[in-house]
Amino acid sequence: MNRARYEHLLTRSASRRLLLGASFAVGATAISLPSAPTRAAGIPKASLLIRRPQFIDTPFSLGVASGDPLPESVVLWTRLAPDPVNGGGLGEASVEVRWEVANDDQFTSIVQFGTAIASPDLAHSVHVDLTGLKPGTEYFYRFGAGNEVSPTGRTKTAAATGAPLSKLRFAASSCANYEHGYFSPYRHLANEEIDFAICLGDYSYEYGMNGEFKNGSTGPVRNVTGSETISLEDYRNRHALYKADPDLQAAHAAHPWLVIWDDHEVENDYAGANSEQSDPVEAFLARRAAAYQAYYEHMPLRADSMPIGPDMRIYRRLAFGDLAEINLLDTRQYRTDQTCGFVAPPCDEGLDPAATLTGPEQESWLFDGLADSTARWNVIAQQVMMARLDGDVSTEGQLVSHDQWDGYPLARQRLLDHLQSTGVSNPVVLTGDVHTSWVADLKLSFDDQDSPTIATEFVSTSVTSFNPIAAQLVLALPTNPHFRYYDPRHGYIRCEVTPEIWQTDFRAVQRVDVPDDEIQTIASFVVENGIAGAVKA
Ligand code: FE
Ligand code: CA
Repeated sequence: MNRARYEHLLTRSASRRLLLGASFAVGATAISLPSAPTRAAGIPKASLLIRRPQFIDTPFSLGVASGDPLPESVVLWTRLAPDPVNGGGLGEASVEVRWEVANDDQFTSIVQFGTAIASPDLAHSVHVDLTGLKPGTEYFYRFGAGNEVSPTGRTKTAAATGAPLSKLRFAASSCANYEHGYFSPYRHLANEEIDFAICLGDYSYEYGMNGEFKNGSTGPVRNVTGSETISLEDYRNRHALYKADPDLQAAHAAHPWLVIWDDHEVENDYAGANSEQSDPVEAFLARRAAAYQAYYEHMPLRADSMPIGPDMRIYRRLAFGDLAEINLLDTRQYRTDQTCGFVAPPCDEGLDPAATLTGPEQESWLFDGLADSTARWNVIAQQVMMARLDGDVSTEGQLVSHDQWDGYPLARQRLLDHLQSTGVSNPVVLTGDVHTSWVADLKLSFDDQDSPTIATEFVSTSVTSFNPIAAQLVLALPTNPHFRYYDPRHGYIRCEVTPEIWQTDFRAVQRVDVPDDEIQTIASFVVENGIAGAVKA
């Protein structure tokens, strides 16, 4: 890396930096930070801006990331954390961070540069929302603070909206419990030739050390630090532990990410303001606010996702030329409580038309967006399985997970009816959560296997998280004939989309209790333009 040239460029940007600095922190005093940053304690935040900090340990311990590509914009992320799992290590000072974007990974052709302020209010994270980029173009980026330079990230803007696009490639992952294994799938994902990656939720888990070793599992592969996450400090330290993982850092540095959460970024199985164990609502909303803030601080999200108390909007839509629109849902924040238990037979309360996974506002937004879309492929990227999965394989009765769309059957039916009645072009649902791989035909009626297939669902397995009943789930295939595929191994899905065909490759490792297992394609399924339902390739 051409460090001298980088320093030169950063010097050249000094006048702009000072201007930005002045507007960000009026009356700021430039001081250096030679040692313990806690010396800033007691000094009001707004009055302390450190332009040239000196670090003992690298502040770029959590790597870099980019996200949510638009045709002319992408968000760049980093967080300064010289002491990552102990609060970050920068105390109450704000720190100036330089950034630059280039056409090449040697930064010989710089296209933009500037500065941002890493403030303690956001755990010294920065989110740079670039503008004026070229559509469908690869860029490289890095940050600087003091004399330290971050690792280099690679990103790519989306194709111009509506413009002809002949191919789109991406991966989708979910469920990376740190204690359940090494993140080797993330390292393999980093090496994929893809335009972006999607996280479908359970990016991090809230449990304390050895927190989820029941159900006959053999014990942790490695340990998290700290107890179950409750406070903002807890969630920040947990995110930092995850982001310090080199395989996860590689995956973020290699591709822009589109991230949505599921439950474990806050708490297992929560629904709206209802916690798993029915905590007082005020207490749970305070916990949710802490979790959402830490999530924002650690993800390459735009400022319109900035949390306000316990509320944070992450459902959104991204378009890639005329080829695909991706609707990213939030099926946690606005859902009504699971009323019939968790794994249980369907019950009458579940048939309340007000029972919802998305909430009415998001549902309208989704329905309108789907109806208005002119894209060839319309993706619904979301958390929990949409297809009915009856786990009662021996009797006529049904046993379903009420945490999935099976617990909200009327909301699911509204969506499937809407997809059919509006003739949405090629709907494809991408799902995480169940720690196993599945392919399903989404039927207009799951009670009638002869009813039309409305959409195709691909369920990505977990990066590491185990499913204690994974070995038994294969038994559900004969009694749930709309499923085309099941596999229990860990990994992710990789999708290649053209105007005529969608192909999903299931990419899996054999084991995650070793750090370096190889990845392989264990199955491929295709969907032809205009024909819902996947066929084994
Ligand atoms: Fe999970
Ligand atoms: Ca989950």
